[in-house]
Amino acid sequence: MAKITSVFSMRHFFVLSLALNVSLILRTMYETEQGFLCYRSKTQKGQTTQRMRLSSSSSSSSSAATTRTEAQDGVERVINLDQGDPTMYEHYWQQVGEKTTVVIRGWQHMSYFSDVSNICWFLEPELAEEIARVHRVVGNAVTEGRHIIVGTGSSQLFLAALFALSPRDGPEPVSVVSQAPFYSSYPSMTDCLKSGLYKWAGDAQSYSKEGPYIELVTSPNNPDGNVRRSVVNRSEGTLVHDLAYYWPQYTPISSPADHELMLFTVSKSTGHAGMRIGWALVKDQEVARRMIKFIELNTIGVSKDSQLRAAKVLKAVSDSSEHGGTWEGVESFFKFSYRVMAERWKLLREAVNSSRIFSLPEFPPAHCNFLNRVFEPQPAFAWLKCERDIDDCESFLRGHKILARGGKHFGVSPKYVRVSMLDRDNNFNLFVKRLSTIHL
Ligand code: PMP
Repeated sequence: MAKITSVFSMRHFFVLSLALNVSLILRTMYETEQGFLCYRSKTQKGQTTQRMRLSSSSSSSSSAATTRTEAQDGVERVINLDQGDPTMYEHYWQQVGEKTTVVIRGWQHMSYFSDVSNICWFLEPELAEEIARVHRVVGNAVTEGRHIIVGTGSSQLFLAALFALSPRDGPEPVSVVSQAPFYSSYPSMTDCLKSGLYKWAGDAQSYSKEGPYIELVTSPNNPDGNVRRSVVNRSEGTLVHDLAYYWPQYTPISSPADHELMLFTVSKSTGHAGMRIGWALVKDQEVARRMIKFIELNTIGVSKDSQLRAAKVLKAVSDSSEHGGTWEGVESFFKFSYRVMAERWKLLREAVNSSRIFSLPEFPPAHCNFLNRVFEPQPAFAWLKCERDIDDCESFLRGHKILARGGKHFGVSPKYVRVSMLDRDNNFNLFVKRLSTIHL
């Protein structure tokens, strides 16, 4: 101790403490990438809380908000649309206000178990009820005669499905394929643990190996928004239908999906990605049992707190849909989200046409039974192509401080990029404005 005090004098300690205090003050106030001003403050009881304040109005397509944001940010701000973070939806849930607030007391929901009479013993009955109801209201999936399995996001259910569908006694890992361009996480999630049960085998269109395989069918597809069907079509295959985007704000609902194993998630339906709740609708009891076993081994169930919050949010979606136009003064959820997506796609197409460097896919219009109207799909991602002699669209856009995910991540040409259409208004508006000014 005497040695330490001889090395560090009181003056040293004073300078050190000053530096620590300054860094703490700086850390309490910072602007994040998403345009939020975050600050931490002490409550009266001394607990540290983090609060967030919108740095600009989040009202849909408000031109005043756009102008102010651009003036504040300047043209140099990096616009990050690489991930599909669905922050666009915050505005709707702010309007809904307290109707979806959930209060959970310290002594509630403490047990591991939710419903021991259900094969999926960790599924909260309230959530099961609201999942079945929302599919009935929207008409996008058959739930009768299906096992509902809840997961920590549909990501966990994807892995549970691979585990459940892999043959136990195969001489080698079963091949997992998906038509390119495929969701960029499939290869890395499949091969992450170098499983002896399954192995990523790439583009389903060029898959010709004999024997069992698992085909992932994502419809509408991430990244290009197309409606998809299985392409391998051999008797030894099993299918996983990832229907994360089969909701009326993105695509016309033509009929209730009726497949063996379907995956859904609140992340892209209601925008609550942070809740980490997804569900699988599974016909075969043995497959369901194995998926449940995987979740038991993996996380011994799924957060009850999140399930109850998801139930409340899905209930609000169904209530607002059944009320048609407005619901206690709030626009119905799908009317709001359809309208915002339609506005965004219109703005994006205008910007792309004015730049003449880029192109976008065209989609055939179809009738939506839920919204009772004909419309063209308006996907959650824009699959943008750089025309002319731009070979690496991701790098080209990065040069203009726009971050998007290049085609090679999805198994196709780097002339394509995937751009999230679900970011907050200020980011999206700045993106289309900047895109329209890019000329060669
Ligand atoms: N499937 C697809 C096609 C997705 O795009 C995503 C989210 N990007 C997921 C699954 C994962 O969803 P979750 O947040 O529920 O894990």
